[in-house]
Amino acid sequence: KIQILWLRRDLRLSDQPALMAAVQAGPVIPVYVLDDETPKHRKMGGASRWWLHHSLKALDARLREKGSRLILRSGNAANIVADIAHKAGASAVHCIRHYEPWWRNAEKELTVLLGNDVELVRHDGNYLKRPGSITTGSGDPYKIYTPFWKALSAQMPPHEPAPVPQKIPAPDEWPVSHNLDDWGLLPTKPNWAGVMEQEWTPGEVGARGRVDAFVDKATQYDEGRNLPSRELVSRLSPHLHFGEVSPAYVWHRMTGRGRDVTTYLKELVWRDYAQNVILQYPEYGGKNARDKFDDFPWRDFRSSEVRYDFDRWTKGQTGYPIVDAGMRELWATGWMHNRVRMIAASFLIKHLLIDWRKGEEWFWDTLCDADYASNSVNWQWVSGTGIDSNMFVRIMAPLSQSEKFDAGDYIRKWVPELADLDDPYIHDPEEFGRKPNGYPAKIVGHKQGRERALAAYKEIKG
Ligand code: FAD
Repeated sequence: KIQILWLRRDLRLSDQPALMAAVQAGPVIPVYVLDDETPKHRKMGGASRWWLHHSLKALDARLREKGSRLILRSGNAANIVADIAHKAGASAVHCIRHYEPWWRNAEKELTVLLGNDVELVRHDGNYLKRPGSITTGSGDPYKIYTPFWKALSAQMPPHEPAPVPQKIPAPDEWPVSHNLDDWGLLPTKPNWAGVMEQEWTPGEVGARGRVDAFVDKATQYDEGRNLPSRELVSRLSPHLHFGEVSPAYVWHRMTGRGRDVTTYLKELVWRDYAQNVILQYPEYGGKNARDKFDDFPWRDFRSSEVRYDFDRWTKGQTGYPIVDAGMRELWATGWMHNRVRMIAASFLIKHLLIDWRKGEEWFWDTLCDADYASNSVNWQWVSGTGIDSNMFVRIMAPLSQSEKFDAGDYIRKWVPELADLDDPYIHDPEEFGRKPNGYPAKIVGHKQGRERALAAYKEIKG
């Protein structure tokens, strides 16, 4: 009997448990539905749509090598998948479980729509451990990262990754499919994706290439991860987000030959932790976990002055070289180095006193690894509004961070107006009297921004 493989953020053939189960049960119809309706305002942003286009194209090519193909549709995913399953006379729909609140709802709806004749079989495989399965001794979910890591790592290593099936049995008849190019996922006027095209190879083959390129660097990650001028992080985040590679595969490749890559694994487990958080707090992307921040005196976003400051932050025109380099890297490549993400986010929230949700939304649209859980968990972590430690008063000094983590070459790359400046001037050209004419003055002084933020925090502290 026909098996439907419903794909979402699991666009790979290897170590794909839903695919493996479908292949063992009968002819398979792999389906991807472009659904802007179910996630509502959480529909995919521009950079993610660019990635998705290329990833689907790559997946279709891989499926064809195995005698199969990808069926594309757009609209309400639960309705469409149920419709395809009923029309094909399928006995089961296989998918990998997703934890975004809208997908959890859609999975429930689909179960109802499929009725008694078609089973929805949900598999795990996008995380090291099934989200929700790592609990304290009393069975409660963890709130803080470190004990979560201890509990999860005690259950590692993960399973051995499953290979790509030799052949994927095809049905006699294929349902109709849309043409990917008609979906308009790629930008046209203007085409802002030029640098992204050079930077990334979406799809499973590109993901494996990134893993290969990073394996030998993983042992340097402990120090290297903080240095944005050096290529010492894996850049796997969009591949992991779209499920082009499984975290179990990454774990095994990195730990091979008995090497100590604990710091890297700890970072990888943040991904699992973030899912664990949104499972407990489905609204985490838009709601402060610490209620007292609901009364926080953010600057009023209706004011044109505040919107102007926000606009300068998005464009990398704040007068703080490390922040500007990061925001421009983000715009050009759809990705930003983690250390710089923290600095840029802290700058928006604290120096500019703009609600973290505005920054989260901007990242959602511009990151090609935009992930509901990872994005909101990290924004709430920087802002101190989250369920873990309160970080609000930890106000990062962008200029000393830049110097400490040797960001000179990184800034010269992304802020061409400053390319002629040497260290240490590059970190704070204004302070050294070296600011070139084309580069903006600081949008707010460091001391002034810091004091304003601490004063605002005092208002809610009691
Ligand atoms: P590496 O350093 O090589 O780490 C390996 C993998 O571990 C990453 O690919 C990622 O999947 C995971 N990982 C590492 N750090 C984190 C973390 N702090 N939280 C969750 N997972 C992590 N990451 C996203 O994937 N999507 C987002 O939308 C996102 N938004 C962020 C917003 C802010 C404000 C901040 C501070 C961080 C955000 N991150 C997000 C986390 C982190 O910055 C990226 O995962 C990382 O920079 C990706 O680069 P990499 O693949 O080279 O990471």
